[in-house]
Amino acid sequence: ATPTALMVGTGRSAKLGILIKNGEALEAANKVKTVVFDKTGTITVGKPKVTDVIGDERTVLSVAASLEKSSEHPLASAILERAKSNGLSFAEATDFQAIEGKGVQAMVDGKLAFVGNDKLLQDHKLGAQLSKQMTALQTEAKTVVIVGLDDQVIGLIAIQDAPKPSSMSAIAQLKQRGLRTVMLTGDNKLVAEAIAKQVGIDDVIADVLPGDKADHVKALQASGPVAFVGDGINDAPALTTADVGIAMGSGTDIAIESGGIVLVKNNLEDVVQALALSEKTFSRIK
Ligand code: ADP
Ligand code: MG
Repeated sequence: ATPTALMVGTGRSAKLGILIKNGEALEAANKVKTVVFDKTGTITVGKPKVTDVIGDERTVLSVAASLEKSSEHPLASAILERAKSNGLSFAEATDFQAIEGKGVQAMVDGKLAFVGNDKLLQDHKLGAQLSKQMTALQTEAKTVVIVGLDDQVIGLIAIQDAPKPSSMSAIAQLKQRGLRTVMLTGDNKLVAEAIAKQVGIDDVIADVLPGDKADHVKALQASGPVAFVGDGINDAPALTTADVGIAMGSGTDIAIESGGIVLVKNNLEDVVQALALSEKTFSRIK
């Protein structure tokens, strides 16, 4: 690639809101066989909302909110927003701990409280009825967190984050180009599959712990160069491991730093634009 041609390509793309931070990323984009997407904030809008509360709503929400006020997770904001709009006051929580890929826990009124997924349950039991309700909600593409207090599960909170309007057509265009599309997420399999179905993604890898995303990218690289598209702190290693790391402009600073390409408009159709630009730039130089 000649420097001049690269400048033309990247200058034009910057106007469209596609920032190319390095020429290698652009060149590699041309050879990609698989496009891997994070779910929350990448395929979905990233503004989750509480839709259902199972159990005593006041107690479940106020316990959950007293823990989540110390968390920066998007699910935490959804729970806080709902608790506030219900006018609930939160109990004092101490010894707060965030458990990566699982949830949060703290002491509330001298009792151990937790909010998170079933990986956090350990000795606790969900019970047949709650399990059934949880599965039903997850099948509706809702992320469900379990709220526990003092050795007991006290309820469930279902949280929904809709796909971006652009996600479906972006995936369709990538598939038209003959590319394989994969979703890689820390969320539950049922939820991930429901969202994947809504937007047309072929394959789902779910229940992935944050530290394992990069390893999954490496495994996918066995069938050719991989582009990874993400926004979160936990996406940074995958963004640097991939042949082309594409970060959402709305993403965390570390994701933006780790991506070779940044999509300022957060629109997944710009992934297609970036690939097209790479094709044009590098066929013109040849
Ligand atoms: P991703 O960003 O790919 O959705 P995360 O690793 O951030 O995945 O989270 C995975 C799962 O861990 C969430 O779907 C949720 O079940 C649980 N979790 C993580 N943080 C929290 C939190 N603050 N409150 C409740 N659940 C949480
Ligand atoms: Mg995300």
